[in-house]
Amino acid sequence: MQQKFFRFFFRGRCLYNCLTVRELLKKLIQAESTPDKGELAAAEVISAELGRSGIDSRIDSWDRTRANIIAQVKSAGTRAALLFACHLDVVGPGEAAWEKPAFGAVESDGKIYGRGSADMKGGIAAIVTAIRRIVDSGTKLQGDIIFFAAAGEETDSCGAKRFISDSGRLPEFIGVVIPEPTDFEIVTAHRGMLWLEVATKGKAAHGSTPHLGVNAIASMRSVLDELENYPRVFLPKTRAGAEPHKLLGECSMSINTIAGGKALNVVPDKCSIGIDIRTLPAQNHQDIITDLERIFAKLKSENPQFDAEVSLLRQVQALETDCSCDFVKDFCSAVEDNKTRAVGFTTDGPYFASLGAPVVIFGPGKPQLCHKPDEYIEVSDVEKAAEYYRNIILKFLT
Ligand SMILES: [Zn+2]
Repeated sequence: MQQKFFRFFFRGRCLYNCLTVRELLKKLIQAESTPDKGELAAAEVISAELGRSGIDSRIDSWDRTRANIIAQVKSAGTRAALLFACHLDVVGPGEAAWEKPAFGAVESDGKIYGRGSADMKGGIAAIVTAIRRIVDSGTKLQGDIIFFAAAGEETDSCGAKRFISDSGRLPEFIGVVIPEPTDFEIVTAHRGMLWLEVATKGKAAHGSTPHLGVNAIASMRSVLDELENYPRVFLPKTRAGAEPHKLLGECSMSINTIAGGKALNVVPDKCSIGIDIRTLPAQNHQDIITDLERIFAKLKSENPQFDAEVSLLRQVQALETDCSCDFVKDFCSAVEDNKTRAVGFTTDGPYFASLGAPVVIFGPGKPQLCHKPDEYIEVSDVEKAAEYYRNIILKFLT
C-alpha cells in the first residue's frame, strides 16, 4: 500500500520527512536483505522514500520474502527512457568476525559500515536520492526514468530474469546504468560465469571388498585428469571466441568444491565437484557443456563402468558494451571521464543488455570491499554518486 504524503518544498527541496542520503543508506543496510531474509523490507524502505517525493513504485513480491521494486518517473515522452538497474540483496555476513555489527550501519570516520554498504546499497541510496532531487526540483524530462532494484542478484538472478520476462510492458531504453561499486570507473565489460556440477556414479560395496563395487572417487580422478588440460589446451584452441580478449584477458576454470564418500569402510557410490568457469563474450556456454559430455563419453568407452553427468548450477553471460556507441560517449562526457574498463566480477548487466540497450556499470564504493567483513562505503562517495546520477539524468533526459 502506497503511503500518501503532503510535500513541502523550499527552493526545490523536499522538507517533509525526507531522509538524507546517509539516513537512507543506513535504513537499507538495516533491512538485512540476505538470501534468508529476502528483499521485501529493503523494497519497502525505497518505496516509502520515493513516496515522499510523490513517486509511485510497485513492489513485485513472491515466495513470501523475495521482492523486486520498480518505479517510473513519467516525462514528455519525446525520448527513450533511462533505466537504473540495482540489486536489493546482499550476501550473508560470512564466517569471519566483524569489528562493527554487520547490519548495524555504524557510522565512523566518514564511513558507513555494514553488509551491502558498498555492494550495492550505497549506489541505491545515491540513485534514489538523485531521482528524488530531480522530481522535487520540478525539472521537465524528455524521457522517463525507470528505477529497478532486483532480488537475488547474488544467488540466481531471479529478480532480473523476472523483470526482463515482462519486457513486453517495458518502454524502449536509451541505455542502462548499473550503480554497482566501481569506485567511479566506467565499466563496460565483464566475463561470464558458468557454474557446473559434475557427479560420478559408482556402486557401493564393503571397504574390505572393493572389487565388488565401483569407486565413484576413482571415476572422479579420471574426470579431474581430463579437466587438468581442458582450460589450457582444449578450451582456447577448439572453440572460436576463446582466444584472449583485449579487455577481459583469458577464460578461466577452477574446480572449487569436491564431495564424496560417507564412511571409511564403504566404497563410495557418489562423488561430485563444482566447477567455476569464467567465459569471454564470444564463448557459448552450451558448447562447454557439450565438451564435458564428450569427455565423459570417451572415458566410458575406455571403461564401461565409468558413469558421470554434468548439470548446470548457474550461468550469467559475459557483458560487452560497444564503447564507441553514442550512449557510452555521452555517459563519459556526463561524468567527465573518457576511459572505459572491464572488471572481474559479474553483474545482472547481461540480462538488461538482452533488452537491446547499451549497459554501463558505474557507482560508488570500492569493489575489493565487497563480500568481506567490515564492508564499508565513504559517505562522501555516496553523496558524490547522487550528484553524478543527477548529471547523468540531466544529460540524457533533458
Ligand atoms: Zn553487487
